[in-house]
Amino acid sequence: MAYVIPPPPVVALPIRDRADLFPVHRIFCVGRNYAEHAREMGHDPDCDPPFFFAKPPDALITDGTFPYPAHSQNVHHELELVVALAKGGFGLEPERALEHIFGYAVGLDMTRRDRQEEARKMGRPWDAAKAFDHSAPCSEIVLASAIGHPARGNVRLDVDGELRQDGDLAQMIWKTPEVIAYLSRLFTLAPGDLIFTGTPKGVGPVQRGDRLAGRIEGVGELQVEVV
Ligand code: MN
Repeated sequence: MAYVIPPPPVVALPIRDRADLFPVHRIFCVGRNYAEHAREMGHDPDCDPPFFFAKPPDALITDGTFPYPAHSQNVHHELELVVALAKGGFGLEPERALEHIFGYAVGLDMTRRDRQEEARKMGRPWDAAKAFDHSAPCSEIVLASAIGHPARGNVRLDVDGELRQDGDLAQMIWKTPEVIAYLSRLFTLAPGDLIFTGTPKGVGPVQRGDRLAGRIEGVGELQVEVV
């Protein structure tokens, strides 16, 4: 069977110390999964729990650049732990959820904050704010079999050597097993799905020429230049 147009290429992430690639199916993202970030965005985490949105897989970028997008004057960095699933399923139990994880990565949920504020005011969807081209810079994946399942560890982003975001994985409101279990009740998860698990406080704008250096203790690093 032939296709009438070229089929989309498989989007894939490199894996540390492996020649083979991790093929990406979907990208789910958790919003407001750190209390202090929810507060800096004007929300009360006690009455406004985390939630999900998505990015298309081809929003991933792994070449160390982030092209500043059109239609925004206020693009923010959000440094996040990324979970890569080896196995899927529906209605997963949190007690078994970690068994579905292939590995972890360091990702940036880049956000057109002005488009997001506009969408919020008008009650419109977030796609233009969150799911734009190149909106998901991501590191190589490290295997869970090599590093375990990080539940604590410093999450830090520097821009041009200046500390911007500083948090700890232990501050996640929904922990990784709960994120997977909850998401699996909304969607049938599949091998290749990525989950961006939310960002700690300190989000802020980037400019062309900025050098972003993200690091998650026990997982890895992500260096990105805004171009
Ligand atoms: Mn985010």
